Amino acid sequence: MAQLSDDCFAFGGPMLSVDSAIDLIIARAQPLGAYERVSLMQADGRVLCEDLAAGFPLPPFANSAVDGYAVRFSDLVADQPTSLPVVGRVEAGAAAQVLATGAAARVFTGALMPPGADTVFMQEDVTLEGKSVILPAGLKRGANMRPAGEDVQAGEIALCKGARLRPQDVALAAALGAHELNVAQRLRVGVFSTGNELAVPGGERSGSQIYDSNRFMLLAMLARLGCAPHDLGVLRDDPEHLAGALKAAAGEHDLLLTSGGVSTGEADYVKNALERIGSLTFWRMAIKPGRPVAMGVIDGTPFVGLPGNPVASFVTFAYVVRPLALALMGAHVAHFQPLPVRAAFAYKKKAGRREFVRASLGFAADGVLEARKFPREGAGLLSSLTQSDGLVELREDV
Ligand code: AMP
Ligand code: MG
Repeated sequence: MAQLSDDCFAFGGPMLSVDSAIDLIIARAQPLGAYERVSLMQADGRVLCEDLAAGFPLPPFANSAVDGYAVRFSDLVADQPTSLPVVGRVEAGAAAQVLATGAAARVFTGALMPPGADTVFMQEDVTLEGKSVILPAGLKRGANMRPAGEDVQAGEIALCKGARLRPQDVALAAALGAHELNVAQRLRVGVFSTGNELAVPGGERSGSQIYDSNRFMLLAMLARLGCAPHDLGVLRDDPEHLAGALKAAAGEHDLLLTSGGVSTGEADYVKNALERIGSLTFWRMAIKPGRPVAMGVIDGTPFVGLPGNPVASFVTFAYVVRPLALALMGAHVAHFQPLPVRAAFAYKKKAGRREFVRASLGFAADGVLEARKFPREGAGLLSSLTQSDGLVELREDV
């Protein structure tokens, strides 16, 4: 059945495309520039606010990649096995002596290469004969040896300003000897729900109410972005109450979010409140689900009014709030990079609008990865999100 409320574009103001909205956010959102120093254990998910240059190479010294025998390549006989006396032993973490010419040294993974040695035979590939080792022919110079700096060179920028630190980034910082990092302070994001129909989970619910779910989804998504989400509860559909609460909260947060109350219904007061106490940047995007999304500024604090329908709220969070929150923390923000996938479904969309289809991925009989659409389409269906792997992006020109 056609959804009339989604098709009444003719009466709307100018529609912003998804890409223009993201570009606008990237261009206008200035990093707050508030930093703190955190230990490596607190660094995961945070935004690095300065380049981290390597003070020394990684690995710091040439070392063996295997358990085996280190030799000078020039001591090997071409095209036939070579027998060399084993003269030294270097374990990981131990000092190494210069390797005498015409000798091999027993070495272990991670051990310093004895100076002079340039090639390592794996212990599985050799045979021992008394105090000598028989080395097969055919190994290349430098085999099984990890040169100093093969990972990161001294002076190289190992981690860039604006990176959102992942476990592997934290590991690289640790390998370079850092124990604390300068990161952006967590963005303080206040989250309100709006609507007289909303009851609070754990409390009573009347026959005409639903439990508020958006607030908990948004708070959880913000936490995953490395923000400090603040639960500001539910606002009733009352223009005075709404304007007052938003204005009071603006002073105490770096970003404010609401859900609900931004469409064209008579009880949709968020846009009006925003126009009264702040300024409206845009409020309609050419996106489905999620068209009514209001963005603006209240006393210098950015504000996003997300749609009330949970799926619309989820999608617009990903395409508006996520880039905005990251940009305010000084993180590199890029458009999502979609990957092509075969559609295992038929779907009719409107040209000029970006639409997202909730889908799961699976392999078809011919081995090709395909997207299978969730059978129902309503923007209120939370199960369509819990039972899908992601969103299929159908661009404006489709
Ligand atoms: P609205 O944009 O306020 O008209 O809301 C659109 C739809 O989303 C209505 O069905 C609301 O009941 C629902 N809705 C609004 N806010 C929430 C919320 N916080 N949690 C769950 N559903 C909501
Ligand atoms: Mg409402």
